[in-house]
Amino acid sequence: MTRTKPGIFKNLNSEKNGTTAEEVVTRLREMIQRGEISAGDRLPPERDLAKLLGVSRPTLRAGIRSLSTVGILQSRQGAGTFVAEADESPTLDSSPLRLLSALHGFTSDEMFEARLALEMSIAGLAAERATSEQMTLLAEEIAGMYASLEDPEQYLVHDMQFHQTVAAASGNRILTSLMNMVATILFDYRSKTVKRATDLKESAEQHHNIYRAMREHNPEAARQAMRDHLVETQRAQRLEVEREKREKEKPQNGRSK
Ligand SMILES: [Zn+2]
Repeated sequence: MTRTKPGIFKNLNSEKNGTTAEEVVTRLREMIQRGEISAGDRLPPERDLAKLLGVSRPTLRAGIRSLSTVGILQSRQGAGTFVAEADESPTLDSSPLRLLSALHGFTSDEMFEARLALEMSIAGLAAERATSEQMTLLAEEIAGMYASLEDPEQYLVHDMQFHQTVAAASGNRILTSLMNMVATILFDYRSKTVKRATDLKESAEQHHNIYRAMREHNPEAARQAMRDHLVETQRAQRLEVEREKREKEKPQNGRSK
């Protein structure tokens, strides 16, 4: 797959000033949608592709980077850039949601509500569809949580991986992508306050409840266990934010704020 079909990379009109990375993204995406390049294909070398599209190499690189963050392209060390295989789970970049959130001032309650809706559905499907390999991965993440009760940042990594594995087990890549988009923002936010967490043991037990319901292939119990967990997580995070605020407001060096 090292040859590229000739003539498919139409020149982007190099005379035109200000060709942006965004146009590179659009062109590459169109070619993928038209099937001119397909899953697993390797892109031509950077120098050739830049010439074919009539863009500078930094512009091309920026375009490739954007498509890599959304899981459409994959750069493999030393091997080049490939169009991702269709069976690899696509990921959605969180940036459009972050931008909307900044523009419209989405509240963290709204974000949680969206996550709740997505993850309850995901948990129900995962209880029906999880493979034994996925169940093993989940058990490992839970063990990781119990092992890092004294290390909240590390705990959060296992927490996030647990949810991503449940999502993968749902077998629905659209729900998985949407969940990851929302959850990534919430996990980023949480990472700022998680060091103030006081109830990680309860949290680990909630994950165990989700796991148990999935092992019993009980969708309704899995949905409820996920709901209970996320409601508790929201409450815990609120307390962490308050503690963080109080800590910051403490008078320092004898001076009050
Ligand atoms: Zn969790």
